[in-house]
Amino acid sequence: MTAAIENFGRNVQFEPSSFYTVESEPEVLAILQANHGQRVRAIGSLHAWSDIAKTDGIVIEMRSLNSVEVSPDQKSVWVGAGCKVKRLLQKLARHGLTLPSVGLIDEQTVAGATATGTHGSGSNSLSHFIKAVRVAHYDSDGNAIITTIDSGDELRAARCSLGMLGVIVAIEFQCRKQYNIEEHARAHKTLDAAIAMEATHPQQQFYLMPWAWNYFGHHRVESKQPRSRLATLYRLYCFCVIDVGLHIAVSLLSRTLKSAAAIRFFFRHILPWTIINRWKVVDDSHAMLVMEHDLFRHIEIEVFVPRSKVQQATDLLTDIVCVFGGQPKRNADDTDTLLDSANQNENLESMAGSYCHHYPICFRRVLPDDTMLTSTAESDTASVGEDWYAISFISYQCPADRDGFFKFANFIGPLIAELFGGRCHWGKYNPLDRNQNACLYSELGSFQKVVRRFDPDGLFSNAWLDDVV
Ligand SMILES: Cc1cc2nc3c(=O)[nH]c(=O)nc-3n(C[C@H](O)[C@H](O)[C@H](O)COP(=O)(O)OP(=O)(O)OC[C@H]3O[C@@H](n4cnc5c(N)ncnc54)[C@H](O)[C@@H]3O)c2cc1C
Repeated sequence: MTAAIENFGRNVQFEPSSFYTVESEPEVLAILQANHGQRVRAIGSLHAWSDIAKTDGIVIEMRSLNSVEVSPDQKSVWVGAGCKVKRLLQKLARHGLTLPSVGLIDEQTVAGATATGTHGSGSNSLSHFIKAVRVAHYDSDGNAIITTIDSGDELRAARCSLGMLGVIVAIEFQCRKQYNIEEHARAHKTLDAAIAMEATHPQQQFYLMPWAWNYFGHHRVESKQPRSRLATLYRLYCFCVIDVGLHIAVSLLSRTLKSAAAIRFFFRHILPWTIINRWKVVDDSHAMLVMEHDLFRHIEIEVFVPRSKVQQATDLLTDIVCVFGGQPKRNADDTDTLLDSANQNENLESMAGSYCHHYPICFRRVLPDDTMLTSTAESDTASVGEDWYAISFISYQCPADRDGFFKFANFIGPLIAELFGGRCHWGKYNPLDRNQNACLYSELGSFQKVVRRFDPDGLFSNAWLDDVV
């Protein structure tokens, strides 16, 4: 056995039988050849909160496989699988280029990020923009080989593979010219008002403030204007007030004080004063879209619902947060009807007061992907071409003190799946089981066929994936 491995959220630990680091594709092939018959997981930055990276087989750490090669026509880039998104964006910037989609942080590796369908707001997931993938696996004689996948169902499966096709060694992404974003913040009373801003600010994300129950938007739109003179000051404000100040406050409230009344007071009376309304700032997209969200340890569940169901889902989730926090429901009649239809009313009441949610609930619009398994891949529960909203719940409780969060997450994940055809992010805490996933992903059968072609013996799976996929 080698030393134990732990993920960012400290909710997943495992001991692989062997641990390798690699710097080149031949090294990956040599490791596979020497270990044929054993289960293998490649790992990136270990930022996933689900059990997706866990194994008692061998682990290959990919971070030094990080080459970046821009195509001569500057329309695409080949990237080593272990390259961090941050490094890729820096290299692309030297050519005046960037990625068409980025998440809230840039610390993930490109293979890790796309293996779970990582996304930002107002665009597709990063996986959607993959043009080709080079994957190391075994041929029918058990020899380790590398196959380049660049079309058809195999590509749609490989764009978000959950690591199940083999060890990805390189990815070709579409890229685009660098661009600027104009951002301003504004409060809204209703979900409709926050969503309406999308017409003029398609890259926006917004937050439902628990306990104040109003909305606060980061309204974003691509801009031809140059970087604002005050952009550096704005960055400093975002870093001090949001990235650091807000997180110190919620950590104190949820870890040290542990007082539901203090949490409610903070969201109703203190946080609103820290927001500078309508200050419009233009900056480079990388600076504007990425935050330092990884400075403070936390855990997250993110549910995806089709746009047509977002209002109903939000009303229900609001009431679930209220009941878990020991407060009365705000939309009791509608919530009770929905909970009764899923036979969950009594179950919810039995958990009343067990978890006080203590972080803004983030809403991001994600466009439908041309993939099989990202959370916005085609679905029987959404109309063709319908957008999705990713709604995230983050907890800063101590890793040893997360029972309340897990009760909450285990309750909302399956319920949102049953009532709204909602999915859970593969790389965040994900309590959905095999039957639920079978109903939610209409192309799961086609994905499994591709997996069987690349990995008939399931060597690139793990116990969790055996269970849920
Ligand atoms: C602070 C924080 C902020 C986040 N923000 C966002 C966000 O804004 N949007 C979003 O969608 N998600 C977000 N996430 C989730 C994160 O993007 C995903 O969990 C992502 O999968 C993590 O990438 P990683 O490099 O850490 O991969 P890991 O966690 O190391 O691995 C994830 C999966 O990828 C597989 N894998 C990794 N490398 C390879 C390879 N070379 N070949 C085959 N399989 C491989 C692993 O086996 C595992 O199954 C965030 C996570 C954190 C901790």
